[in-house]
Amino acid sequence: RRKYPAQAIVDLAVLRDNMRHLVDVVGGAHSGTAVMGVVKADAYGHGLLPAALAALAGGATWLGTAQSHEALLLRKLGIGADRCHILTWVYNGMDAPFDELIANDIDISLGSLPGIDAVAAAARRLGKPARVHIKVDSGFGRNGFTPAGFDAALAKLVPLAKEGVLHIVGQWSHLAVADSPDVPEFVASTDRQVETFKEFTARMEAAGIPPEIRHLANTAATLNRPEIHFELTRPGIGLYGYEPDPAMGTPRDWHLKPAMTLQAQLGTVKDVEAGHGISYGRTYLTPDNTSTAIVPLGYADGIHRSASGFDMQGAKHVEKEGGPVRIMTTKGPRLLRVSGRVCMDQFIVDLHGSAAELGVHEGDTVELFGPGRGEEFAEPTADDWARAAGTISYEIFTCLRNRIPRLYE
Ligand code: PLP
Repeated sequence: RRKYPAQAIVDLAVLRDNMRHLVDVVGGAHSGTAVMGVVKADAYGHGLLPAALAALAGGATWLGTAQSHEALLLRKLGIGADRCHILTWVYNGMDAPFDELIANDIDISLGSLPGIDAVAAAARRLGKPARVHIKVDSGFGRNGFTPAGFDAALAKLVPLAKEGVLHIVGQWSHLAVADSPDVPEFVASTDRQVETFKEFTARMEAAGIPPEIRHLANTAATLNRPEIHFELTRPGIGLYGYEPDPAMGTPRDWHLKPAMTLQAQLGTVKDVEAGHGISYGRTYLTPDNTSTAIVPLGYADGIHRSASGFDMQGAKHVEKEGGPVRIMTTKGPRLLRVSGRVCMDQFIVDLHGSAAELGVHEGDTVELFGPGRGEEFAEPTADDWARAAGTISYEIFTCLRNRIPRLYE
């Protein structure tokens, strides 16, 4: 008997195969381009350690986490420096655990002057060089040194590198619009980012601290910009089986497969009459005599309330499609949608027919999203949920709370 009303099933073989494919895309294990599995934010909600191990099994030789505690956790869980490099990049220069990071051979991103000072001080304390990657702002406008601020950074970095306090491993940056290869302005903007990135490299070389490796490509650029793979690429969403933007096509178009299936067991199934108000605010009124079923997942689980489906707003008629679900009835799968508002712990689905006739019962399995389109049925994906919620698949995954157990296959 299941202890939980819902579960997220992660297929680790799929995750591994996605990484194998991404390694192939950069030319294979001996191409001179390595691949980092980006496992930040609990591996985009898939589970840090299982996803990291699957990425390594698929040929990743780097792991990346935004926050340092996740990088340290990977080392504590036994992923040693002999297995892979780990890079971490979100911290402030005042109170991050630099000593521990350096002691554990974790590479640190450097993108601010206080950051340089703090990492150098920790390296001196430990008597061990810190492995660092110089983050440059090539046009994303987030982390990293700007072209105008780079001389001041070089003035600090050069003596520290010469002294052996810092080991300048990498130079890196992040792309803003690589997921829009069909929009000419965005292609031009990525081209400008690449040019700026190369100018930074030239300045590092001229200053006598050439980076050993350069990395710029996220999933989008790993897939569609082979000329900027450099020595390392950093796919995240591709590892989990999704393309970065549905405008790029489906996962299948890119030989990727979604690794996570989010499913639940139906709660109450009952018959209701036409005109029955469904959920808070009565935003959905059943158009006909019908049956409804309860899905025991709500916004406290990370199901977006913005994925509600309604036909009324107040007293006004406004149509909005809810997030999709696939109910496994005794007569085959049936694709339906959230009806009315998503509540904290549950939402309701109008079955648009009689449950008895459709073969829908309390306890039946309902899938919110899974590996994608099958031959005979339309299986929803996290992209469909993203569309219904007005967001991106990344947020659908990372919002899933720990109340939903992750089960691994
Ligand atoms: N590199 C950095 C610095 C990131 O912040 C991210 C994620 O947003 C990635 C790489 C991976 O991006 P994606 O998941 O689009 O491949």
